[in-house]
Amino acid sequence: MSVILPALPYELDALEPVISRETLEYHHGKHHQAYVTNLNALLPGTVFEHDSLEDIIKKSSGGFFNNAAQIWNHTFYFQCLRAVKADNKPDGALFSAIERDFGSFEAFQEQFSKTAIGTFGSGWGWLVKTPSGQLALRSTGNAGTPLTTEDQALLTCDVWEHAYYIDYRNARAVYVQRFWEIVNWDFVNDNFNK
Ligand code: MN
Repeated sequence: MSVILPALPYELDALEPVISRETLEYHHGKHHQAYVTNLNALLPGTVFEHDSLEDIIKKSSGGFFNNAAQIWNHTFYFQCLRAVKADNKPDGALFSAIERDFGSFEAFQEQFSKTAIGTFGSGWGWLVKTPSGQLALRSTGNAGTPLTTEDQALLTCDVWEHAYYIDYRNARAVYVQRFWEIVNWDFVNDNFNK
């Protein structure tokens, strides 16, 4: 198997002014690409050679896991985003589930932001659906991903510095605050309904 870098689901300047073209050129074109290049260099002649990306993530550790999980996490993250939308909120059953499990949409945003901002070092903030159908927040370090758990990933915010340093320098909290303007709730809703 050879892994291919998935194309971005939008143009490089589609997320401006929240995320710049330059950030996406590096984040997708250099960082995401590097995980793909690294994994393709590791795979030949190993037991993972013919596995799907998901299977590699579930079965491996070390460099295989780190690169495979980062490929999956980034593909998922880029799909979580879209052009700036005013009053950007989910609707329908997802909105109701958020109100049920967090009290209100605003309380959910606050708690998700806190989870993402509070992730120590490099990592990811997640909204997940647990096996019982409850919504919950998760923080994973480095390449950590809900794919190795029972949780279904619904939404993620990449809080590795490469996700925001060009646009926000060290101000992770400002990046996470502005992230809400570009969340692709249609994608989150599709994940919720899986
Ligand atoms: Mn990243």
